[in-house]
Amino acid sequence: MKKDTNSNYQDTKVTCACGNTFTVRSNKPELHVETCNKCHPFYTGTQNNNIKKGRIEKFNSKYGFTEKSA
Ligand SMILES: [Zn+2]
Repeated sequence: MKKDTNSNYQDTKVTCACGNTFTVRSNKPELHVETCNKCHPFYTGTQNNNIKKGRIEKFNSKYGFTEKSA
């Protein structure tokens, strides 16, 4: 566990497969994702089961934003 990991966080440009881009705080210069809050089934409402709910929560956690703070 390196204690200075957090200091490497920066504004990271995230590019989604749908073409949407947004910025998150991350220790990587850029990220590419297959789904975002613009096109993910959970947000678009095309699918609505609990498994998808779990996936979006995991997605949010991974990319540093939560439903509470979004
Ligand atoms: Zn997207």
